[in-house]
Amino acid sequence: MTVPFLDLKAINAQYRDELVAAATHVIDSGWYIQGAEVKAFEEEFAEYCGSKYCIGVANGLDALTLTLRAWKEMGKLKEGDEVIVPANTYIASILAITENRLKPVLVEPDEATFNLCPDKTAAAINSNTKAIITVHLYGQLSAMPELMQLADKHELLVLEDAAQAHGASINDRKAGSCGHAAAFSFYPGKNLGALGDAGAVTTDDEGLANIIRVLGCYGSQKKYENLYQGVNSRLDEIQAAMLRVKLRYLDAEIQRRQEVADYYLDNIQNSLIKLPVINKRESHVWHLFVVRSNKRDALQSYLAECGVETLIHYPIPPHHQEAFKKCASKALCLTEAIHQSVLSLPMGPYLTIDQMKQVITAVNNFQ
Ligand SMILES: *Cc1c(COP(=O)(O)O)cnc(C)c1O
Repeated sequence: MTVPFLDLKAINAQYRDELVAAATHVIDSGWYIQGAEVKAFEEEFAEYCGSKYCIGVANGLDALTLTLRAWKEMGKLKEGDEVIVPANTYIASILAITENRLKPVLVEPDEATFNLCPDKTAAAINSNTKAIITVHLYGQLSAMPELMQLADKHELLVLEDAAQAHGASINDRKAGSCGHAAAFSFYPGKNLGALGDAGAVTTDDEGLANIIRVLGCYGSQKKYENLYQGVNSRLDEIQAAMLRVKLRYLDAEIQRRQEVADYYLDNIQNSLIKLPVINKRESHVWHLFVVRSNKRDALQSYLAECGVETLIHYPIPPHHQEAFKKCASKALCLTEAIHQSVLSLPMGPYLTIDQMKQVITAVNNFQ
């Protein structure tokens, strides 16, 4: 039997009756955009994260892009300003910067956690630096207290890319309430996944929240009057209804993911494989369980023969992408080494003990 990398059908099947009831409620309401479900989800998710405001948008990339755009409208950023971002992130974190004609400054991560390292971040700050996008990669919260201290010292804005880290916490502060604003994705495969595209921004800044909301609605606060040259980026009622159901089970799913991770960490033993390093148990919500190996490609083929599906997050670093070939980029040796050695093992709240054992046996037998 194959252990699937991610079984979305199994995840959503657990809540099928509630999801169907919630969808039916929206269908029968006759109201599909900007209604009661979005409003309720925004309140519930803000409360979950411990932030004052939540603004639903169409997807995670828009959540990132519109936050930077709003800071530009507020005069806090201007074209050409430098934004520090980890070099090993998913492409969306960087697209949000370039889309706003800001300059991404790619910084090598901490090798143990894959997240921004406060020291390397400090070394990249100059007088043009105006913001930091910190990515809680694979589900582990970045070193937020240290990064916020650094940001305060240099008066920098901090945007959390929390697309992989719903519910991760550090000193009782959750992802979404650690920076000046946070962007979430509810892409179906994320830990809190809709049944289509969806995203949100959380923040304690009322002014920022208002501008993001207006920007996502054609730049219009009052119908047919436009304050900004905005876009159309809204969270649908039906997706908000799906998310409200799934938010109620998020903590239970995180706990299951942590149990799976504990089991892997306790039982995988192979000198060819490097296990992930965690800061504190609650700081990692295990969106992905990523191991490293110098024989990554051989490991992946061997695991496939053993019926274990794996994926690579991510095969090509952003600075080697065709889309960014015109941007001058320095050598980023650690990032390149990470991209050549990472492999994501099956991870999810539905994994059975037999499936976990199959993964562990296969990984341990690799030579
Ligand atoms: C998924 C993801 C995004 C983008 O989210 P979408 O909803 O797919 O636009 C951004 N950043 C990170 C780190 C992600 O994993």
